[in-house]
Amino acid sequence: MILILGGTSLAHRLALALGDQDVLVSLAGVTEDAPQRPYRQRRGGFGGAEGLAQFLKVTGATALIDATHPFAAQMSRNAVVAAAQAGTPLLRLCPAPWTAFPDGWISVASLKAAASSLPAGARVLLTVGRNSLGPFTGRRDCWFLSRGVAAAPEIIPRGTYLQARPPFTAASESELMQTHRITHLVAKNAGGVPMRTKLDAARDLGIPIIMVERPELPVVDTRDSIEEVLAWLRSKKALA
Ligand code: NAP
Repeated sequence: MILILGGTSLAHRLALALGDQDVLVSLAGVTEDAPQRPYRQRRGGFGGAEGLAQFLKVTGATALIDATHPFAAQMSRNAVVAAAQAGTPLLRLCPAPWTAFPDGWISVASLKAAASSLPAGARVLLTVGRNSLGPFTGRRDCWFLSRGVAAAPEIIPRGTYLQARPPFTAASESELMQTHRITHLVAKNAGGVPMRTKLDAARDLGIPIIMVERPELPVVDTRDSIEEVLAWLRSKKALA
């Protein structure tokens, strides 16, 4: 069995590409309305690195693919420890980070720094995800269009919440920004092609981007395409 740590579109695409294989995709279980998928899924934490190591041993997993979001740092750290403990080959599937535009791109190290960097009166498209809104709730002098895949949390930053599932086109992102008279975009540096449409739209409209850069993670073997993961799995004799 190949265990894929998911919660991302890349994990979904990898599971589809492995259609005829014994695959299990693991989700944290944070979204209640996760769509039905044509592959096996499990939901909920493992109980730390120890729990994941145990899971790998009990299920006899032949490979562990960490395809979580680049900001899911705890899960990725646990994967490194657990794979070493269980002796399971580990690969991270992760797109390269986006590179900065020459103008209108402010890199910050944390969500808190992103919140502090906004000028008073800013109208912000906030695309950091529903679980990362906390640091922005104190900015009562700004207005936020907070966007997330799941339903709105109880407390949101001043403004409104939009529940929407990607992908989004550059044209629809541009329309959204213009409709809400957005002056700033805040994003996590997730990387990847599908999600960069908001960056292109912001650049074309001259809207500054406040980019939260990725957390530091242990260095592990990493690929950024499905094809490369399939080749790696073949090299590890993990494919039937
Ligand atoms: P996190 O802080 O790194 O993980 C916290 C805990 O949640 C982990 O220790 C683990 O619990 C559990 N967990 C996380 N991902 C899991 C998975 N795929 N399968 C089973 N358990 C998982 O993670 P997060 O940032 O809250 O992200 C949660 C999920 O949302 C991840 O699957 C991630 O890919 C997805 N996601 C995150 C972001 C983001 O910005 N962080 C954006 C888009 C999607 P135990 O220790 O009990 O095993």
